[in-house]
Amino acid sequence: MSEETNPFESLQSQIDDAAAYLDVGDDVIERLKHPERVLETNLTIERDDGDLERFKAFRSQFNGDRGPYKGGIRYHPGVSRDEVKALSGWMTYKTAIVDIPLGGGKGGIIIDPADYSESELERLTRSFAKELRPMVGEDRDVPAPDVNTGQREMNWIKDTYETLENTSEPGVVTGKALDSGGSEGRVDATGRSTVIAAREAFDYLDKDIEGATVAVQGYGNAGWIAARLIDEMGATVVAASDSSGGIYNPDGFDPVAAKDHKNETGSVVGFEGSEEEITNEDVLTLDVDLLIPAALENAVDADLAEDVEADVISEAANGPLTPAADEVLEAKDVFVIPDILANAGGVTVSYFEWVQNRQRFYWSEQRVNEELEGVIVDAFDALIEAYEEHDLENPRTAAYVVAIQRVADAFEEAGSWP
Ligand code: GLU
Repeated sequence: MSEETNPFESLQSQIDDAAAYLDVGDDVIERLKHPERVLETNLTIERDDGDLERFKAFRSQFNGDRGPYKGGIRYHPGVSRDEVKALSGWMTYKTAIVDIPLGGGKGGIIIDPADYSESELERLTRSFAKELRPMVGEDRDVPAPDVNTGQREMNWIKDTYETLENTSEPGVVTGKALDSGGSEGRVDATGRSTVIAAREAFDYLDKDIEGATVAVQGYGNAGWIAARLIDEMGATVVAASDSSGGIYNPDGFDPVAAKDHKNETGSVVGFEGSEEEITNEDVLTLDVDLLIPAALENAVDADLAEDVEADVISEAANGPLTPAADEVLEAKDVFVIPDILANAGGVTVSYFEWVQNRQRFYWSEQRVNEELEGVIVDAFDALIEAYEEHDLENPRTAAYVVAIQRVADAFEEAGSWP
């Protein structure tokens, strides 16, 4: 784990890598390296015992050139201003590479939600929603779930906003429960795009996904769904981990049974289908065909990258490889499907949810999955076109070349404003 790598600096260096191949002025690139604005706020709520506690929270609106700011809200002790800025930038280029008419934003609260009751979390979420109210809205900024937030928090945000605005506007937030205006297929969407992108990469590299071995670091929503779906495609999941440790079985195990074990005990560790208990680091360095990092930023630094033995990496997490790790992996010819494409299924189905909310017309799960498939395959093809056209070594740079060009075009087409 590299604690030192600042994710905002990682984002900026990824933009610089791509800028060299773009016909976009340095002044525009400079604009595209910084958020338009960042809200920093202090939320004070009453604990169940009557004491007050203050929490710092952020919302970064990175870029709105292509549409309303879009991105999740995370609850985590590691949240910081720079992390939120980086994540909001990654959202900007994520919505651009998959070509949906949205910008990029991200929010976070510095908290370990495991230490708080449901009613405390509800008060905190509603307090944040009250702070966000002037800056969000279905045509302004549309939050969504991220690390440690889900349907429950989104339903609270929607209810707070609609109550204060005296309106019905379910599209103010996505990732809601189905009965509150959520979309079919949203929960699975991040893991689904991770495996669609992996399947396309295997195809491009002339490799067989059937029988491929897979290691999944992080067994939250993105990781475990990716494990389930890749298993359904005929690959063999041999390893998985969460914050308590990892499991390994060279013959593979049932990813659904591993998830059931985690639901019962809080961790994949101790799962009966595992042959051997291994560390998180071991999971990242196993000799597998496909590695899916699905936890947090900076999971793989340059040192660890030296030991990575996977042929393909599909980034379900945001920012799991440091730029220095990227360089090492590029030299080792590891094909990295970048986060902004691999995990873009989440925001793509958020976009479908927003469309459905606005039309008050809801789609079947089959339609959602088919539309998602088309979006991810098209984005992968656009990445490969840039990769080949510029003779690039790193697919991440190719993704940024496509995405930055799209944002820059929208900015320049809008003309200048004092
Ligand atoms: N938090 C997810 C991401 O990082 C989803 C964002 C959204 O649906 O707006 O892509």
